[in-house]
Amino acid sequence: MGEFFRRHWTVGAGNSGGRPPTGAAPEDLIDIGEVCRLSALTPSALRFYERRGLITPAGRNGQRRAYTPDVFERLNLIACAQQAGFTIAEIARFLVARPSDDDLRERLAAKASELSSDISRLQRMRASLMHAATCTHVPLVDCPHFKASFADEAVAAAHM
Ligand SMILES: [Zn+2]
Repeated sequence: MGEFFRRHWTVGAGNSGGRPPTGAAPEDLIDIGEVCRLSALTPSALRFYERRGLITPAGRNGQRRAYTPDVFERLNLIACAQQAGFTIAEIARFLVARPSDDDLRERLAAKASELSSDISRLQRMRASLMHAATCTHVPLVDCPHFKASFADEAVAAAHM
């Protein structure tokens, strides 16, 4: 980061509602372009997360947002939660959750249980694919093992 940038950082300026983290020196801040490059997210995605309360820039360099390094930890958390099927609104709520938020805890437990079902389904699928990869039945699709794994799938689906 050049001297020009260092002199022009304005920590906390234009920060909508958030506080600059204590001890965040201007030279510790990461420009939005660098955050995008390292996270593979677009600037509009970061602005969207900001509007929804998921991230807060720590400062600005002119019109450009700048973030503290812990933004990457937050972005990882958001990505994991999205992969687990949580909505942006749910993630926003989780980020400010207190231990007394029983509704949220129930939702988390339900999601963990959904993931267990997904894992079982994927394990069955893996087993049938591993079998098919070495099966000598002609034609492959009529293999009793292969058919059985789909029968299990139908049974499992009926119980969901
Ligand atoms: Zn077979």
